[in-house]
Amino acid sequence: MQGCAYVNGQFAPPEEAKISVFDWGFLHSDATYDVAHVWQGRFFRLDAHLDRFFASCDALRLNPGHSRDEIRQIMHECVRRAGLRDAYVEVLCTRGQPAPGSRDPRSCTNTFMAFAIPFIWIADPDKQKRGVDLIVGSPHRIPGSSVDPRIKNYHWLDFVKGLYEAYERGGETVVLLDGQGHVTEGPGFNVFGVFDAGGGAKRLVTAASGVLEGVSRRTVIELARAAGFEVQLRPWTVAELRAADEVFLSSTGGGVIAIARLDGRAIGGRPAGTFGPVTQQLQNAYWALHEDPRYTEPV
Ligand code: PLP
Repeated sequence: MQGCAYVNGQFAPPEEAKISVFDWGFLHSDATYDVAHVWQGRFFRLDAHLDRFFASCDALRLNPGHSRDEIRQIMHECVRRAGLRDAYVEVLCTRGQPAPGSRDPRSCTNTFMAFAIPFIWIADPDKQKRGVDLIVGSPHRIPGSSVDPRIKNYHWLDFVKGLYEAYERGGETVVLLDGQGHVTEGPGFNVFGVFDAGGGAKRLVTAASGVLEGVSRRTVIELARAAGFEVQLRPWTVAELRAADEVFLSSTGGGVIAIARLDGRAIGGRPAGTFGPVTQQLQNAYWALHEDPRYTEPV
């Protein structure tokens, strides 16, 4: 595999990026991570990813053992050594192993790892052109009172179950609802609906809480407001999702990605292979930001 990892304080080929089966990151999903991307040789909003990674570590009482500046340098160095122009760059901190015989998380030595590999899309560019088929899954998203979704985590059994359900029902990915029937998020993305606000105006809606505060979500909110659209962050129901004119995903794994069908039905009655003007406008604006030095830094 093309790429470069950073493990046990050293840069190594991705094949050597391994952890012990005794690490609680593996045994208990006791870990956090973040994923940034490099596009055409430039990191996109790296500071936002570092802010979120350190906030997640603090919330879980994990210590990555490196300063913010060191982690920034490690991420740059992984991409540089891998020789990648477009990269998926992950940083991880796991609880590590406890002292022999102990079950006390305070006795664990936390570990830090990073890697850069070729860019991974939520939906490949071909699929993006015709829009993704989204299924509303039956598992509820793990409640935020149990696992705070704002802390980026590997608790994905609800998503994985939902993905299998989506494939069985002819879909490509899944969005989960919370216990009250509100739209949350999917495996690797936030979800937006676009609605007619009267007089030709458009309104965007996305979940205010119960989701990861995606860096791409934030970018979309900023771009949409700058373009003069109203953006509402609030609970929204699956009935609203079904009534939306346009639906799209936001993710580091591809930015703004149109949804073509929801549970097998075309969104907004649009013909297959076409998607709405607001999604298209925001997708263009998202990629245009990748050339803006205020949002990017060269590797
Ligand atoms: N929600 C979940 C559960 C995710 O895992 C991700 C990204 O991996 C997102 C939302 C989108 O976040 P971002 O835009 O920072 O990639």
